[in-house]
Amino acid sequence: MAIPFTRALVTGTEHENVKQALEDGSIGGTGVFGRQCQQWMEQLSPSSRVFLTTSGTSALIFAALLADIQPGDEVIVPSYTYVATVNAFLMRGATCVYVDVEKSTMNLDPALLEAAITPKTRAIVPVHYASIACDMTTIMAVAKRHKLIVIEDAASSLTSAYKGKPLGSIGHIGCFSFHATKNFTAGGQGGAIMVNDPNLLARAEVIYENGTNRRQLARGEVSRYEMLDLGANFYMSEVSAACLAGQLVMAEHVSARRRQLWEVYYARLKGLAVAGHVELPRVPDHCVHNGNIFWFKTRTRSIRDTFIRFMKDAGIVVLFHFTPLHSSVFGEKTGRFSGLDRHTTVESEKLVRLPLYYDMTDEEQRTVLHHIERFFEEDEKVS
Ligand SMILES: *Cc1c(COP(=O)(O)O)cnc(C)c1O
Repeated sequence: MAIPFTRALVTGTEHENVKQALEDGSIGGTGVFGRQCQQWMEQLSPSSRVFLTTSGTSALIFAALLADIQPGDEVIVPSYTYVATVNAFLMRGATCVYVDVEKSTMNLDPALLEAAITPKTRAIVPVHYASIACDMTTIMAVAKRHKLIVIEDAASSLTSAYKGKPLGSIGHIGCFSFHATKNFTAGGQGGAIMVNDPNLLARAEVIYENGTNRRQLARGEVSRYEMLDLGANFYMSEVSAACLAGQLVMAEHVSARRRQLWEVYYARLKGLAVAGHVELPRVPDHCVHNGNIFWFKTRTRSIRDTFIRFMKDAGIVVLFHFTPLHSSVFGEKTGRFSGLDRHTTVESEKLVRLPLYYDMTDEEQRTVLHHIERFFEEDEKVS
């Protein structure tokens, strides 16, 4: 029995919703289901406004426009992230300044921020890796002191929280993805941006309407619409929103199951951690994650690579994750690493992710755990 790494969420509500959206006819964007999704996300953070987008990538591109990033500006990001996090800012002509991650969470280390800030710094982009929150208290304090804008890459973090606040609602802007690999999906592709700073709202409306004041026209505030700024069509199709709307109703339930699978992995692998074979992720105090990813690290890269092959032979897909961006030729050309790369490269080389999806059965998980234990028993004999 093969066990995949992930399986896109299907709750059964999608089919009826899609049928309804198609019959209703207004599928270009923000119909009934689009509004439902938007309202669902806004009830998480009532002072924020949400705009649904075609992907997490387009949410980040939207955010970089909204933050008014200019050529030559510097944006502080972890190098251990998905390429979309930085592409959005590179498109604006920014330079990426990479800071090292904390070993235990693989999140940006806030103690390194001050040293990375220059007169050109405009923004900090924390990425909540594996839906476990970055230290937002410190990040927001540093940003305030230096008048920087904070854009949270909360792509996989819907329903996660930090000190009781939903991830994506703490910085000035939050970006989400509804790609098939995230906890909830808008029929395979989708995203959203959460605008938390009310001062950014008027421009967000303009950017979302392809740079025009069409929203104001719709409200009867102006008599015609015109081009005011840069913008794009980021609208999520109503058909995609129809898929997503049904899933969001079950969001807490879905995340609870994923978190439960995560906890079982953690509890069962604790012995291997105590024996020094693996290192498990740390969930800092005040963080509630959504079980998007379960990762652990092996002692060396070569053990990790052997482990991935061993699991593959058993029909189980386990995967490594991000290759640090600053170590690619393009990454080096478009950014620089601030300070030392003490953890980013070496830790990313030891990291592996286990299968985890909403409808994973307990038996499937037991099979995965059984093979992990077998692998490290053999490793024990060899070493
Ligand atoms: C998934 C993801 C994205 C991109 O989202 P898409 O919807 O695939 O464009 C960006 N950043 C992070 C951290 C992600 O995990």
